[in-house]
Amino acid sequence: MQADAIKRSLESNGLRFTAQRYAVLAFLMEYKGHPTAAEIFKAVNRIDPRSSRATTYNNLRDLVKAGLVREVAVEGRAGRFDLEGVQHHHFICDRCGNVEDMEWYDVPKPDSRSLGKRVVRDCQLIFRGFCMNCAPRRAR
Ligand SMILES: [Zn+2]
Ligand SMILES: [Zn+2]
Repeated sequence: MQADAIKRSLESNGLRFTAQRYAVLAFLMEYKGHPTAAEIFKAVNRIDPRSSRATTYNNLRDLVKAGLVREVAVEGRAGRFDLEGVQHHHFICDRCGNVEDMEWYDVPKPDSRSLGKRVVRDCQLIFRGFCMNCAPRRAR
């Protein structure tokens, strides 16, 4: 995504284009992985030292609300963020807390009886267990 595309997607989601929001999105585009809010703040602050922690966190929250950024909640640890670009599921390691992307496949929707009047916008799975580094090695 270039600056133009970022501007368009911010505006089509009812958000004003600001240097800060741009910096948050640009960082998430570059970063391979799932940074915490603190890591995002550090990176944005390096580019623009005037940006405050509160502004960065507010921008992050606005971007999540607008559906441009996704927050992956990790119990007992800081939430992790990534772009809503390509749909994918997540895998969280219970040992090191690593968050990894898993290939997307459609999850069946609940039937209308259990859904009621709720409107489902998105459904993603979180697999839990041990990542490849932490999985116990199998004895030969
Ligand atoms: Zn692990
Ligand atoms: Zn992800």
